[in-house]
Amino acid sequence: MAKYTPMIEQYLQVKEGAKDAFLFFRLGDFYEMFFDDALLASKELEITLTGREGGGGEKIPMCGVPYHSAEGYIQRLIEKGYKVAICEQLDDPATTKGMVRRDIVRVVTPGTVMDGRIVADKTNNYLVCVTELEEMAALAACDLTTGELYVTSSPAETDSLRGEIGIYEPAEIIGDPQLLELLKGETLPGARPVVYTPWEKRDDEQARSQFGEGAWTRLEKERARCVALLIAYLGETQRRSLGQLSQISSYEPGHYMILDPFTRRNLELTETVRERSKKGSLLWLLDRTETSMGARLLRRRIDKPLLQRSAIERRLDAVDHLYHQFILREDLRLALKEIYDLERLTGRVAYGSANGRDLNALKLSLEQIPALKELCLSSGSATLREIGNAIDECADLREVIQAAIVDDPPVSVRDGGMIRPGYHERLDELRSASTSGKQWIAELEAQERRITGIKSLKIGYNKVFGYYIEVTRSNLGALPEGRYERKQTLANAERFVTPELKEKEALILEAQDKMTDLEYSLFTQLRELLAAQIPRLQSLAEKVAEIDVYQGLASVSAEQRFVRPALTDGFDLTIEGGRHPVVEAVLRDGSFIANGSRLTKEDGRITLITGPNMAGKSTYMRQVALICVMAQIGCFVPADRAEVPLIDRIFTRIGAADDLIGGQSTFMVEMADIQVMTEKATPRSLIIIDELGRGTSTSEGMAIAQAVIEFVHHEIGCKALVSTHFHELAHLEDSLDSLRNYSMAVQESGDKVNFLRKLIPGAADSSYGIYCARLAGLPESIIGRAYGLLQAIEQSAAEVGAAAAAPAVPGTAGEKTSAGRMPLSAAATASPEPADAGEALTVTSARDRE
Ligand code: ADP
Repeated sequence: MAKYTPMIEQYLQVKEGAKDAFLFFRLGDFYEMFFDDALLASKELEITLTGREGGGGEKIPMCGVPYHSAEGYIQRLIEKGYKVAICEQLDDPATTKGMVRRDIVRVVTPGTVMDGRIVADKTNNYLVCVTELEEMAALAACDLTTGELYVTSSPAETDSLRGEIGIYEPAEIIGDPQLLELLKGETLPGARPVVYTPWEKRDDEQARSQFGEGAWTRLEKERARCVALLIAYLGETQRRSLGQLSQISSYEPGHYMILDPFTRRNLELTETVRERSKKGSLLWLLDRTETSMGARLLRRRIDKPLLQRSAIERRLDAVDHLYHQFILREDLRLALKEIYDLERLTGRVAYGSANGRDLNALKLSLEQIPALKELCLSSGSATLREIGNAIDECADLREVIQAAIVDDPPVSVRDGGMIRPGYHERLDELRSASTSGKQWIAELEAQERRITGIKSLKIGYNKVFGYYIEVTRSNLGALPEGRYERKQTLANAERFVTPELKEKEALILEAQDKMTDLEYSLFTQLRELLAAQIPRLQSLAEKVAEIDVYQGLASVSAEQRFVRPALTDGFDLTIEGGRHPVVEAVLRDGSFIANGSRLTKEDGRITLITGPNMAGKSTYMRQVALICVMAQIGCFVPADRAEVPLIDRIFTRIGAADDLIGGQSTFMVEMADIQVMTEKATPRSLIIIDELGRGTSTSEGMAIAQAVIEFVHHEIGCKALVSTHFHELAHLEDSLDSLRNYSMAVQESGDKVNFLRKLIPGAADSSYGIYCARLAGLPESIIGRAYGLLQAIEQSAAEVGAAAAAPAVPGTAGEKTSAGRMPLSAAATASPEPADAGEALTVTSARDRE
């Protein structure tokens, strides 16, 4: 083996402890990388690759980044999904003989970054740990920046585990290697790349002391194991105390409405399907929070709608009171606006990375709390009063920061200038020594000018030579002999010192050194004092976030004319004048057409919707699901009136996801989703299937669609909304008691179809595919031919299916608007004169024709 220099040997030894990370090896003012790290980092960071003699014959590849700008480089590597181990010098090189000791002080990983520039304000940055023990899968999710830690478990099964992971959108997943292998193979929905780290080491002792004996022993063993692994990983990467992790929130998945990852995406709860952006999602519409903590809490609530009526009513109570009190809402907003991100500030305090500005932000935030508390207490809402009563204003903490820290402290905590005069006697003394020293120097300058008669003589300071007297070359002759010692020669001037100046300089510099040291130690003492109060600050942060969520939901509810939903423990879902909250808000002009829904035992639990493309079917079905979600997170809903039963799970199979999966697999994905549904749906679930049975041949698709609908009807017995372009399926209404046909109304005039976006009873009899083909600009010859063929096919189908003839749809004939069929003659000819708007339209249905 090649013999390396001691430094490279040291490097290799440290590198052993960070095999899966870039090792940033501190050498003076640089972090250097060597060997393969250097090769890869130079590419990823676009920095120059050099070489270094290190013994061993060939030059060792090397590249480096300046230590003061390292954060930016670390951030780039983390964003690319790498880890970075920071290796520092443990001894002061100036006072050490021989090699300085070096070791890793911290490993930055995507799930454990603390730097405010890397983590977005309004989203959490989760590290997730997954483990399996005796057929139970456990999951722990931790956000180091806020100190949150959640843990749960359920019978081991990849689907539900994947669903639960999806909620956290983790940056990094650690845990049992076999489990990670399973998960890796699946597509986790989430915009960013996930880093997987197999991890089996556990640290029960650390976990126990972190959360306290009581909390620790209450944990189920599979959850405890999961947390113990997570804590061991944090210990290994962070290598410092984790005071911000003070509480474990252990929860049962069954206490929340289950929304699988694809349902979340299909319903666009927190991001849109196409752009994957928050804009256009339900979260985007509902988020009127003023604080980042509030924004994050709202997201968590949307991710986990509740199943307990009393808990939802508690939330609705607060929203209801604020909904009706505009002034109170505004006052709350004004107070909340001034509150900084308490959770992340607290995280930095615990981590020891908070600076003077952070403490001031904490103080300014705490100043708002008394007003906030008072507003809650006088709000008239039982929920807000309860929160108000539980608020600990932390006035003592505000006061110590106020007493210690100046109003506008510098960013650095090492250079002094943070501590207020009057806070510490010794510091005040040093300060006055330093000020009087500087005063003395100013006087000396005046005195020297007088003695020498040189007006341009000045006293200056630099780091290398200290204080000096500077005299321009032309004036040198005027200097008396002997008194001045020459120190430095410049092009146009000479610099001198005198013994008394040197003496004073020593005093001033010493005072200054002592001052900055003392300031730093006073500052860290204060920070530690605050760190000991972290649970208080965290609990305050939680309350502020909750208030913020309520005012936000109340504001948007008032603005968008939402109403309080009536929650029931029954089965029936009744919505009058329901709207899709986001589509309505985006249309802005009030042109959104409201539609009611009745999914009841009496009037049918399954709604089968037919109608042409673009008629508004999927918007309608999503709107029903969103109303249920909104009600269960404790928000008002977009409707004139809504009676909402508690839904335990929403299944969606919605066409839009097809765009994402693409091609051949579409049909298989649809079937896989349906399979999960058949297995998991209960009578309290809501099923939404858009365009059931596409992606295979017509007859097969139709056969599967019918069989699935029958299964939902007979076996599951839950509420369901199904859209299909097989208008032939309308006959199911005859054989299935609880199914009702509906369609999206269209108005025909000439060869134009006008979408009315109104849901009406009865089935449509054509899907207007050919009409859409014309809209898309296909040549008229193709359109004409297609209409001809359609007629022929339908005729022969009618002959074959004559046996299955059914009675006419009641109540639709004669209505002015309907899901009427496109008259072939009109469609096939060139555009005639536009018809009267009031023209009575032909109403036919598939069955009428048979
Ligand atoms: P479908 O599923 O029948 O193809 P969509 O639900 O995708 O139709 O709706 C098509 C477009 O119609 C949507 O982009 C939306 O802008 C508009 N739309 C849907 N429902 C309504 C409504 N109730 N009021 C106004 N516009 C609507």
